[in-house]
Amino acid sequence: MIVERYARNLGLPGWTVETQRRLATAGVLVVGAGGLGSAVLPYLVAAGVGRTGIVEDDTVEITNLQRQVLYDTPDVGTSKAEAAARRLSALNPEVTVTPHRTRLTPENAAGILAAYDLVIDCTDNLATRQLINRTCLELGKPWVHAAVSEYYGHVTTLRPAGPCWHCLSGMDTAAEPPPSGILGPVAGLIGCLQATEALKYLTGTGRLLVGRLLVWDALRPGWEEFSYRKNPDCAVCGNRNIPVPPAAD
Ligand SMILES: [Zn+2]
Repeated sequence: MIVERYARNLGLPGWTVETQRRLATAGVLVVGAGGLGSAVLPYLVAAGVGRTGIVEDDTVEITNLQRQVLYDTPDVGTSKAEAAARRLSALNPEVTVTPHRTRLTPENAAGILAAYDLVIDCTDNLATRQLINRTCLELGKPWVHAAVSEYYGHVTTLRPAGPCWHCLSGMDTAAEPPPSGILGPVAGLIGCLQATEALKYLTGTGRLLVGRLLVWDALRPGWEEFSYRKNPDCAVCGNRNIPVPPAAD
């Protein structure tokens, strides 16, 4: 590890070479490399997260470039996972970036997630989000959820023993909303918060957004926060024996 690269991490209160080494041994799986992923991924890799996985089966489309700033115009038509991995490996060749060119499915989810310490939900659909929630509960993995639409976005962090995404949303059979417009920087802003939560979790720094949903509406700028609790009757996590990972905060 070239310590000089991380000098401005090491200048943070409480952040030591050991903290940086801890990050270098950590693995994070980012599911979705779109608008949120374009913000999350460079910050994780730049900060020195040792292993970053990207689950994404799409190719880059011209309509993505308005907000998915991880890609360049010549990337149009190529695999997003591969294009992202190329860009990120150039940003920090000291760390490993693994493209998983697939969709997350009930068949492959546990096998892919098992290799990582933390999952970041950068998807744009409810089915994948429900799958992340169930798989993280089964495996005892924490995850950082976010969603963006139009001028709005929200973020929260979920831990296996805490409330799950279903406790928060109550959604199991909701219809998939049609794709909406998204103001690019709103996705970037919310993605940056996901990356911040991830780095805090992996280094044991500060408090996490557990049981709290942080909401941003760019049209009425200001943060709103909502608390939520574990629902004992939750169809997903209620009355379940949840494995508890080592505490990180
Ligand atoms: Zn639940």
